[in-house]
Amino acid sequence: MTSEKLAELAVQAMKGAYAPYSGYKVGAALLCADGTVYTGCNIENASLTPTVCAERTAFFKAVSDGKREFSAIAVCGGKDGQIEGFFPPCGVCRQVMREFCRDDFTVHLVGAKGDIKTRTLAQLLPESFSL
Ligand SMILES: [Zn+2]
Repeated sequence: MTSEKLAELAVQAMKGAYAPYSGYKVGAALLCADGTVYTGCNIENASLTPTVCAERTAFFKAVSDGKREFSAIAVCGGKDGQIEGFFPPCGVCRQVMREFCRDDFTVHLVGAKGDIKTRTLAQLLPESFSL
């Protein structure tokens, strides 16, 4: 699957975001090693702490379906669902990626005009902790 197609799926997934508090809608599309794709959106909560990011929604959906090997993820976001610049994964999501992915796992950051900035997990989370 191309990075452009994965980016499109992330943009579609953003529409499902539940973000009544921050207004920031985020979408993610996670490509498994077997070629299947799981999408996710952010889901906020009035007490804030239970809020979950789009990336973790996608990962947890996939892991709960038995997936363990992943190739890439595309992420986009912006206020009221309008993509504005890049929306890199937060630290918690980077650590979740670390649990299941190697250094070469690819993260595509999707910009407003469909431009894509590509990074590896090693670049986003250097000297990371994993067992
Ligand atoms: Zn996050």
